[in-house]
Amino acid sequence: MKDHPPAPGIPVSDRMTAELIAPHAAMPHDASSVPIFQTSSFLFDRYEDMAAVFAGESERYIYTRGNNPTVAELENLIARMEGVEAARGFASGMAAIAAAVIPFVQAGDRVVAVENLYSDAFRLFECVLKKFGVTTEYVDGTDTEAVVAALPGAKLVYLESPTSWSFTTQDMRAIGAAAREQGVISVIDNSWATPLFQRPADFGIDLIVHAASKYLAGHSDTIAGLVAGPKHLIDRINHDSYHYLGGKMSPFDAWLVLRGMRTLHLRMARHMQNGLTLGRALSANASVTRVRHPAFEANPGNACLSGYGGLFAFDLDESVDIPRFTNALKVVKIGVSWGGPESLVIPAEAALGLSGAANVFQRFGTPAGSVRLAAGLECGETLVDDVLNAIEEARK
Ligand SMILES: *Cc1c(COP(=O)(O)O)cnc(C)c1O
Repeated sequence: MKDHPPAPGIPVSDRMTAELIAPHAAMPHDASSVPIFQTSSFLFDRYEDMAAVFAGESERYIYTRGNNPTVAELENLIARMEGVEAARGFASGMAAIAAAVIPFVQAGDRVVAVENLYSDAFRLFECVLKKFGVTTEYVDGTDTEAVVAALPGAKLVYLESPTSWSFTTQDMRAIGAAAREQGVISVIDNSWATPLFQRPADFGIDLIVHAASKYLAGHSDTIAGLVAGPKHLIDRINHDSYHYLGGKMSPFDAWLVLRGMRTLHLRMARHMQNGLTLGRALSANASVTRVRHPAFEANPGNACLSGYGGLFAFDLDESVDIPRFTNALKVVKIGVSWGGPESLVIPAEAALGLSGAANVFQRFGTPAGSVRLAAGLECGETLVDDVLNAIEEARK
């Protein structure tokens, strides 16, 4: 196994930190936290007011499935952090992914997607879009030439950097430039790095999606999603899918994400540090054959990252019994999802039973002996002790 490269600092700018802590400029009654506008509808004083708004002559809130002030605060915050013009909030990361893809494709079109993408994004392409005549071609995202070669004639390229489970990265700069040249819309899932550690628009990517359920909200207490990008593409989403698919983020969920984001910079620093501490300890362990984490494996998109999320995977050799390893963990819990305060594991062989993951593994190969670990906010040394002890206890 290669030596671990020096850990980068925590590269969160003062400007970003200030945005996160005080995301709202003018709140009613000078409230310090954004109020939850828990309303479905907004009233008009007079017929003329309603008619003017409907005719597009003046702008204001009408109905929460369209726009809501609490959700709008979060949409504006994520747009500023990603360095783009606009954003939209959705009921889940998957609703955001669907809304970012559907407006731009129609029957007969081809999508290019990276292999080992998030399991339910894979199922969206395979189970929904395919039914409507949109085909998806999967390309190894670490092979930049292969991705670029697949672009001519495609409508949309779907990236995730790093990818789920394999944690390999893509050269966004090369792919983004080639996609623009070919008129192909580029979309990336940026949930892992968050805009603190990676801003895809800076590298020429068009649309950025977030599973806000993970790091942005950060407390394992909500499901939410976001799409951010240039105004003309967000307008297309608004016009061609947003109102009709209906997967709108609720005001309360937006409030939870806004609340979580006020400490995003502190949490990300800890997730990153814990992920690197665990990765180093695991790469020095005799039973570990591979650590799947961008800091531990060279891939073309690593240079796009200025920091690391705490989610990664490691492969155990045959000397370790994986169910026993899993059950021997005391601090690290067993569960899906990631991005919350608690550390979590999922072994790949258990995830084979999940239909979404099974489809991805069947298609792209099951990483035998692999365990996905979401490093939470506990003490790094406690996590290392827990994981190394569990490996010892599970030796055959
Ligand atoms: C969880 C996840 C999603 C989906 O988010 P939901 O809010 O659960 O719909 C998308 N992408 C990645 C990488 C994820 O881990």
